[in-house]
Amino acid sequence: MSSRVGMARYAARAAAGVARRLRGGSGTVIAGHVLEALAPGAVEALTTGRDVTLVTGTNGKTSITALTVAALGDEHLASNPDGANTRAGIAGALATGGDGAVVLETDEGWLPWAVAQTRPARVVLSNLSRDQLSRHHEVRALAVSWRAALAGVPLVIANADDPAVVWPALAARRQVWVAAGARWTADAATCPACGRACRRGPTGWGCTSCDLRRPRPHWWLEGNDLCGEDTRIPLRLDLPGRFNLGNAALALAAVDATGGVQLHDAARRLADVHAVAGRYQRVRFRGHDLRMMLAKNPAGWLELLDLMAPDRCPVVLVFNADGVDGRDPSWLYDVSFAPLRGRTVVVQGRRATDLMVRLELDDVEARLVRGSIADAVWVLPAGRVDVVGNYTAFQTALKEVRRG
Ligand SMILES: [Zn+2]
Repeated sequence: MSSRVGMARYAARAAAGVARRLRGGSGTVIAGHVLEALAPGAVEALTTGRDVTLVTGTNGKTSITALTVAALGDEHLASNPDGANTRAGIAGALATGGDGAVVLETDEGWLPWAVAQTRPARVVLSNLSRDQLSRHHEVRALAVSWRAALAGVPLVIANADDPAVVWPALAARRQVWVAAGARWTADAATCPACGRACRRGPTGWGCTSCDLRRPRPHWWLEGNDLCGEDTRIPLRLDLPGRFNLGNAALALAAVDATGGVQLHDAARRLADVHAVAGRYQRVRFRGHDLRMMLAKNPAGWLELLDLMAPDRCPVVLVFNADGVDGRDPSWLYDVSFAPLRGRTVVVQGRRATDLMVRLELDDVEARLVRGSIADAVWVLPAGRVDVVGNYTAFQTALKEVRRG
């Protein structure tokens, strides 16, 4: 490391410390800005010679990153567990993290930059679906940019169940395929390679025109077990839902590819992940037991509605359309909210009326309660409550309930 990068890193860490004291949060993004301002090219310098794993995809990347970090069990690694996944967040994670392995959640749009700067040993791809309609509006455009970025990458660990991931993954030098699942399929109706129809059947998917089809997975799930050619590893996660088993499968496949970790030990460490950047966190708040959950796009809502289905406890839905939420909430109409019928549903948030209309069309009775989470739970009987927010709504709700 040059003395200039070393000095910049020192200053970045100091800035992160000041930011943490003044504003709370991790200070990672400020650290990243300071690092890059004082030493342009520091990201490349700080990743040279290190074992780098990048994790990207529309859904699950924060969880996969957290699970990979836990599974590796390396206390000196550098990562961005707070989900700061654009350029400044990545630079900040390198400035403030340890000097061991590097595991970085990477925003879908920043993947080409991150690959060029960090020259990763491996890239993990979860899925690609519509998200932030006013920004990542075109799934295929992202797939095209990924395909160009991944050319020359030594290894990709990719979800075999999503055509929009498989096609760019094929550009890498080697692939490990994981049957991580795909509940949301509306963005995979056309082939990313040729644009013709893509068909799904019970055993997989395939293009009706070209030869793109679901690759044979190296890793798959049977119940709660992760299975490979000669391997069966029981997964005991504290994180809920089928989709988190898929996230764990991708994480363990990535850890297996590092070659230095005993996989059964790695799998045991996954149980130590109880929440991911506040998601799935259980909080006692005003006489209620809250479970905090984030659903920011159609694929995410679909998974969470599945997850909540067996439960009949009241639900608070908080919905905004600010900043990173994307200004266009029309995707609400891509998801069926019918699984919430018959449950006690409270709605709030700055775009609460959009969600009220959507729920009414699905015959879900809901009550609009303006104000904060405290106002929402005040109208509910004591006991368990699921709180689901999209991005900015979730952050605000989390801050409120953590304050108590
Ligand atoms: Zn095709």
